[in-house]
Amino acid sequence: MKYELPELPYDYSDLEPYISGAIMELHHDKHHNAYVAGANQSLEQLEDARQKDDFGKINQLSKNYAFNFAGHVNHSLFWDNMAPTGQEAHGELLEAIRDQFGSLEIFKKQFSAVAAGVQGAGWAVLVWDALAKRLQIVQLFDHQANLALSLTPILLLDVWEHAYYLDYKNVRGDYINAWWNIINWEDANKRFTKVAVSL
Ligand code: MN
Repeated sequence: MKYELPELPYDYSDLEPYISGAIMELHHDKHHNAYVAGANQSLEQLEDARQKDDFGKINQLSKNYAFNFAGHVNHSLFWDNMAPTGQEAHGELLEAIRDQFGSLEIFKKQFSAVAAGVQGAGWAVLVWDALAKRLQIVQLFDHQANLALSLTPILLLDVWEHAYYLDYKNVRGDYINAWWNIINWEDANKRFTKVAVSL
């Protein structure tokens, strides 16, 4: 499946005077489109690496995919996050914001501070942490910090040295090979099924 550039839900100039039509056209048609193309190209390169059994460039390929896919996801959400006619916060989200941040005003102040504090290129994002079951405001460096926002953990392997050094010293590969013998696939499958069902 190839990723595709979504249509904007409004015209380029509909967000004026807050964001100009010139910016929206460039941002959507050029920048977002480049992320879509980059994500598709990365998928092809990863498939090529599998075909050739050559994972020598896997670090760069992984970073390229994360960067471009996250750029595509973030912008798709960003466009839908905006509307020509501003609306008042309402509903369950407003209740949750008041509950966790104290008030909408305080939330806006924190979100603004998080956004202003991003060092270099990045995003401020309100996220629902499904495991902590709470809202969080996070900074994303670049688009992803090498993580896409849509990720839900299904199976995790800790490769910090503290997880294996006593047993395997510096030979991380042996630890990784050994780990495949002790997977709780039932747990992984249960989590995956939950996510898949909720989509
Ligand atoms: Mn952008």
